[in-house]
Amino acid sequence: MPLINCPNCGKDISEQSYSCMHCGFTIKERPIKDAEEKLVQKSGYSNAKNSGLDYSRIGKISIAIGCIIWLVELIRLFIGMCSYRNEEVYIAILNAVYFVGWTIMGGSLILAGIFAMIYGRLQEK
Ligand SMILES: [Zn+2]
Repeated sequence: MPLINCPNCGKDISEQSYSCMHCGFTIKERPIKDAEEKLVQKSGYSNAKNSGLDYSRIGKISIAIGCIIWLVELIRLFIGMCSYRNEEVYIAILNAVYFVGWTIMGGSLILAGIFAMIYGRLQEK
């Protein structure tokens, strides 16, 4: 255990001790105070997090849903192209319209998710 000199009486005391065992001089504040401060900081942080929406989580979910929509639509378009026949032009057009609609929707979700995540990051600071 490393030893230090008491600033009051100059005797050797443990670096770990909070007060001098010879003269009772307080070397440093007891960790209870630190722990209390940490607790306050922690609860304050969690309170702030609970009071507002968890934008980072919402963003992640939004991005995930957007990606799933895109993936499903790409697969659907691919299947549609493979089974495409000339007499089903209207179906192909309908497919294309659906694809554009869903990709815009998915894209908006991803964009909204990214913004929500950025907003969440800014709020954390
Ligand atoms: Zn002392």
